[in-house]
Amino acid sequence: ASWFGHVEPAAKDPILGVTEAFLADPSPDKVNVGVGAYRDDNGRPVVLECVREAERRVAGNANMEYLPMGGSVKMIEESLKLSYGEDSEFIRDKRIAAVQALSGTGACRLFADFQKRFLPDSQIYIPTPTWANHHNIWRDARVPQRTFSYYHPESRGLDFAGLMDDVKNAPDGSFFLLHACAHNPTGVDPSEEQWREISFQFKAKKHFPFFDMAYQGFASGDPERDAKAIRIFLEDGHQIGCAQSYAKNMGLYGQRAGCLSILCDDEMQAVAVKSQLQQIARPMYSNPPLHGALIVSTILSDPELKNLWLKEVKGMADRIIGMRKALKENLERLGSPLSWEHITNQIGMFCYSGMTPEQVDRLTSEFHIYMTRNGRISMAGVTTGNVAYLANAIHEVTK
Ligand code: PLP
Repeated sequence: ASWFGHVEPAAKDPILGVTEAFLADPSPDKVNVGVGAYRDDNGRPVVLECVREAERRVAGNANMEYLPMGGSVKMIEESLKLSYGEDSEFIRDKRIAAVQALSGTGACRLFADFQKRFLPDSQIYIPTPTWANHHNIWRDARVPQRTFSYYHPESRGLDFAGLMDDVKNAPDGSFFLLHACAHNPTGVDPSEEQWREISFQFKAKKHFPFFDMAYQGFASGDPERDAKAIRIFLEDGHQIGCAQSYAKNMGLYGQRAGCLSILCDDEMQAVAVKSQLQQIARPMYSNPPLHGALIVSTILSDPELKNLWLKEVKGMADRIIGMRKALKENLERLGSPLSWEHITNQIGMFCYSGMTPEQVDRLTSEFHIYMTRNGRISMAGVTTGNVAYLANAIHEVTK
């Protein structure tokens, strides 16, 4: 008998399938707008200059010792300044329990495990739709999931009324997962005024907001502006949780650099919570990786490098915002009678185009354009060179 004969292959990740099909296509016209990673205007991966410089400074200097169980103290300190604000009273009062995490995914997973361990009867409310891995993360942490309304297909915008109803109808004291900015996959964010109303209602219902902030700075080009939702909740006196990632905003995808923070009642509670987060990390991976943390802390703690980073992250955001405009203008120039306002209203890496799975299939089979069947276009894959071709193909299949 075989030990592992009963193991069936896992279901294929739909996004990896898109990339495989793209690579296998010999057409010179092919376009990949499925990728979830930034590309430059020539379609190539980018390493930021501030990252290259930080690497030069670190090379040959750092030792290879273990980081503390909770990760790099300096990297955590800088991360909290970004998310909670440079002069945050919560940092000053040491009310935040924070650990370095394996990028945004690892931060979410640590939180989900913490939630299960210390609030075993709680659930998590997740927006519809959301980044597919959110479902996997809370499933594997064995936290029951509920969903709340988020996207409004007709307007290709926010279903604010549905969202508020679901927030009101959830049992008091529920956990909610919120995308801090640049909602994936829809690119639809609440306005500042709507965030204020959401925060107000959360307060009334005593809900706990957990922010997944995978795109700080990448959405608007300004990390402070992209932290607005979090700051509103903080002003309103919420305790929050926050998952930060440096994958997109520093282009450190493979370095797995991130941070999980939980705002507590006081310093004593924060010490206890942090020690328990470390306790969860210890049997899984003991302590987090060094190199990415060094790069992040080197950049953020040096005013000159930080300025360079701010310039570069704005450059990435601006290129994407520019491509949104170009795609919309091209579609209008082709005489498409449909409204494409949502392309420029949405924000971040993705555009939730509203195309049907059948239209996406036609884009692929007739035009060699690759993307997920939910109609999500990765704006990072759109370039000056392919935007007209892409617009024409979209116009053809949506006629
Ligand atoms: N959360 C959201 C909403 C994302 O879109 C992503 C990446 O695509 C992540 C978290 C996590 O990314 P990483 O684990 O690479 O930081």
